[in-house]
Amino acid sequence: MHIFLYGPSGSGKSTLGSLLAQDLEMPFLDLDANIEAHVGMPISSIMRARGEETFRDLESLALKDSVNQPVQVIALGGGALLRAENRALAEAHGQVIFLETDPAVLIERLKQDKNQRPLLAGELESSLRSLLREREDHYGSFPLRVNTGMEPGRILPNIRTLLGRHRLRAMGAPYDVVVHEGGLDDIGNLLTSRGCGGTALLVSDEHVAPLYADCVLASLQKAGFSVELTVIPSGEDHKTVDTVAALWRAALAAGLDRKSTMLALGGGVVSDLTGFAAATFMRGCNWAVLPTTLLSMVDASIGGKTGFDLPEGKNLAGAFYPPRLVLADPQVLSTLPRRELRGGLAEVLKHGVIADPVLFDLCAQGEAAVMQALSQVVKRAVAVKVQVIEQDPYEHGIRAALNFGHTVGHAVELISAYSLQHGEAVAIGMAAETKLAEKLGIAQIGLARQITDALAGVGLPVAIPSGFAPEELVNAMRVDKKKADGVVRFALPVKIGEVKPGVAIDDLMLALEE
Ligand code: NAD
Ligand code: MG
Repeated sequence: MHIFLYGPSGSGKSTLGSLLAQDLEMPFLDLDANIEAHVGMPISSIMRARGEETFRDLESLALKDSVNQPVQVIALGGGALLRAENRALAEAHGQVIFLETDPAVLIERLKQDKNQRPLLAGELESSLRSLLREREDHYGSFPLRVNTGMEPGRILPNIRTLLGRHRLRAMGAPYDVVVHEGGLDDIGNLLTSRGCGGTALLVSDEHVAPLYADCVLASLQKAGFSVELTVIPSGEDHKTVDTVAALWRAALAAGLDRKSTMLALGGGVVSDLTGFAAATFMRGCNWAVLPTTLLSMVDASIGGKTGFDLPEGKNLAGAFYPPRLVLADPQVLSTLPRRELRGGLAEVLKHGVIADPVLFDLCAQGEAAVMQALSQVVKRAVAVKVQVIEQDPYEHGIRAALNFGHTVGHAVELISAYSLQHGEAVAIGMAAETKLAEKLGIAQIGLARQITDALAGVGLPVAIPSGFAPEELVNAMRVDKKKADGVVRFALPVKIGEVKPGVAIDDLMLALEE
């Protein structure tokens, strides 16, 4: 899919487009500049000499030509999508981001080079305002919109969030994290365009394979891969070294070597195991993740942590090993059991609390609203995790913010003997830890209520079940592996959008009392 930047003259399409292209490591095309180079004169001259219709014809031709080139970022002219056929073409071949800019700012920018803007000749301010009025409905009709009234450094992450496209550079070889409806059908091409090819092993579990493996296999075969499917039993009980060994052997049997690719199609159990198997098979081969649970889309698949459980505890052995691609296709969430979906929503809400008030507000509207906007919810939650990983890939500082809700949460999960699902336990943990933050004066009074209401609104539990002995919970918190030097540290919310990591607490009972 191409990325088109659109908006009136002066909204920054060329500047932002070239920055975005650099950021995503994609080619950049400025459609107007391209036409000028082709015709050999400035657009203002083309318009004057041959009229607007002729220019629009040239523009349509240039657009048609551009969509047939390899995927790129394309800065469009300010009226390039006025023709219905142009708009249909752009929307069929890519995503259109509309750049919203205050007219006063546009005027300031355009004053600098008004000779270049033929349709705005004459009294700049009045002609711009009448042009904007004329195109108001048109410009208003593009759903993906970004406000450009800030530094480019702050606009770019917002564009990446809307697109659901990120290039993660913080952990060795850069790789793309992409959220794309229907993207599974295209996985073969997405991998070959990233230099993967040859032999592949598709790993999935017994629930997911019957639903989605065929479509992934077909796409890989179409792109020229020789691929075998391995299906593992589902569930945390199988996140063991035995399953890892089974994957190594399946890889050998399928003829994989160090240049081959393993693909994880499933939830966090499948991706943790496949990632670890890939990290260690012949000392490391390529791997890619196709997360199929909400939790794995917004959490487990991003950040390069892989591993498995030991009888002594969860995730006790593993490696940081970044994949070549993460592709989340929100369409697959339609078959995810409701309880699993809600569990994922706990982590989504956590991401909202950590860094995205818009995401939090969306979730606070309740489960029905979230289901309506699931793709957007996934994109925003993915963006938060990517942003945290970029700042702190190996968990030395701010990445600890992701532990919000998890100190009490892990203890509750353990004492429930895993009858509470991880997300349910984290929801209970977030409610308890926000109350703690209020007691300590870290959070404003009222935050606990706000977070608790939002969690309950998407169907998550918020109270520690009666019958859980506080002493046992305290002990469980003390053995949590995330404690350092014997001190239990919490990541506590300050307000929606900000969490303070590393808060040491001696009296753990404080986290459990109402
Ligand atoms: P999971 O992989 O066990 O999947 C949950 C269940 O949903 C399974 O039964 C699975 O078969 C089924 N399922 C998955 N996708 C489906 C779909 N689209 N339709 C129907 N059924 C589907 O669990 P999870 O919640 O995705 O992941 C939990 C694991 O992730 C834990 O082992 C945890 O330790 C790990 N994790 C890892 C990281 C990390 O950074 N690596 C972060 C968080 C969690
Ligand atoms: Mg978690």
